[in-house]
Amino acid sequence: MGFSREKEEDTDRLAENDSRAFIPYGRQQVDEDDIQAVAEVLRSDWLTTGPQVGRFEEAVATFAGARHGVAVSSGTAALHGAMHAIGIGPGDEVIVPAITFVATANCVVYQGGIPVLADVDKATLLIDPDEVRQRITAKTRAIIAVDYAGQPCDYDRLRKIADEHNLYLVSDSCHSLGGEYRGRRVAEIADLTVFSFHPVKHITTGEGGMVVTDQAELAEKMKRFRNHGIATDHRQRETLGTWYYEMTELGFNYRISDIACALGLSQLQKLPAWLARRREIAALYRTALQDFPDVQSLRVADDVLHAFHLYVVRFAEQIDRAAVFRKMRAANIGVNVHYLPIHFHPYYRQRFGEGLVQRPEAEAAYDQILSLPMYPDLTNDDVIRVISTLRQAVASS
Ligand SMILES: *Cc1c(COP(=O)(O)O)cnc(C)c1O
Repeated sequence: MGFSREKEEDTDRLAENDSRAFIPYGRQQVDEDDIQAVAEVLRSDWLTTGPQVGRFEEAVATFAGARHGVAVSSGTAALHGAMHAIGIGPGDEVIVPAITFVATANCVVYQGGIPVLADVDKATLLIDPDEVRQRITAKTRAIIAVDYAGQPCDYDRLRKIADEHNLYLVSDSCHSLGGEYRGRRVAEIADLTVFSFHPVKHITTGEGGMVVTDQAELAEKMKRFRNHGIATDHRQRETLGTWYYEMTELGFNYRISDIACALGLSQLQKLPAWLARRREIAALYRTALQDFPDVQSLRVADDVLHAFHLYVVRFAEQIDRAAVFRKMRAANIGVNVHYLPIHFHPYYRQRFGEGLVQRPEAEAAYDQILSLPMYPDLTNDDVIRVISTLRQAVASS
C-alpha cells in the first residue's frame, strides 16, 4: 500500500532525465499588487488582529454566499473551530468521507470525537449519501461533506438526511471555493463551510483558513476559540481603553495575521479569472482524454459548477498506477495522489483496529487515481505536454 521510500528515491533520480521545466500539480500565483498589498500592511500599525482580518472575512463570506466569516491560521484550524462551535465532544460521532485529506477526520479527534468513515461514490469520489444514512447511530452529531477535487457534494440529499436526524451539516469546501450546487454557491447550503488558503488552493494567504456561516452565534464561538477562549481581542480593548479581559472557555491561538489577510484580499480579486482558467484547463483535459478508455475523468454532475482545485483521472484496473506515476515524475510532471484513504493511515489503522474498517469504493479508487497538474497559469502547451506524456506512460505500463 502506498509508495515505498525506495520507489520515491527512484523517482528522484529518474527526474533528472528530463530537461524540460518541472510542472507541479498545483501552485500559487503571486503578482506585484499582491506584494504591494502586503508591503502596505508591513508599514502600518497592525500586523495582526487589525483591520485587514475583518475585511478579508467579509469579502470571502460575501463571495461564497454567507453572512459571517471567521478567518484563522489554517484550514485545519477552521475545521477544528467548526467542530468546537457545534459542540462536538468525547464520544460524539461525526461522519466523514473515507477519501479526504487527514485534517477532515483529525478535527473530530481533536475534540475527543469519533470520525466515522462513509464510503464514496465510485464515479465522483464524493461522499455517498446512502452510506451516510447507513453510518448514523444514536451518537452521530454531524456530517462533514468534502467537495472532493472541487465538485460540490449532493447537498440536497445530505441536507435532508441531516435534518431528519437533527445533525449539523458541515462542508469542507477546501477544494471548492467558487463552486456551485444547483445554482447555489457552496456556502449557501451547509451550517458551516470551511476554506483553506494554503498555496495549492484557489487563493492563498501563505497559511490560512476560514469558516463561513449564516449563524452569528456559531461565528462568535469561533472568534473566541481562535483567541484562547477570550471574548475581546487586543484591538477592541485598545479602543475601549481597558486592560481587562477574561477567558470563558478553553481556546487556542488560531489567529491569522493582517499580513496574510492583505495577501488574501488581493488574491480574491483575481479569483473569478482564475476559476475561469481552471475550468478551461479541465475542459482541455476532458476533451483530450475522451478517446482514451484506459484513463477516465471523474464524473461531473450536470447541476453543479465545479471549482477544479484538482483534476483527478482514474485508470482502468489493468494499468499500473505506480508505474505511470514514476514515468510522469521522470518526465518532470508533478502528478500526485489524493488521497490515501483515512483508514489506511497508520494512526487510524491503530485507532480503528487493523482491518476492521473496510470501504471498498475508496480502497479501489485509491489504487487507480492520479491528480494531473491544475493551476491557473498552467499553459495550453503544458496541458498538451501532460496529456502526451500520460499517453506514453500508460501505453508502456
Ligand atoms: C487543504 C485541505 C485541508 C486543510 O487545510 P490547511 O490550510 O492545509 O490546514 C482540509 N481539508 C481538505 C479537503 C483540504 O484539501
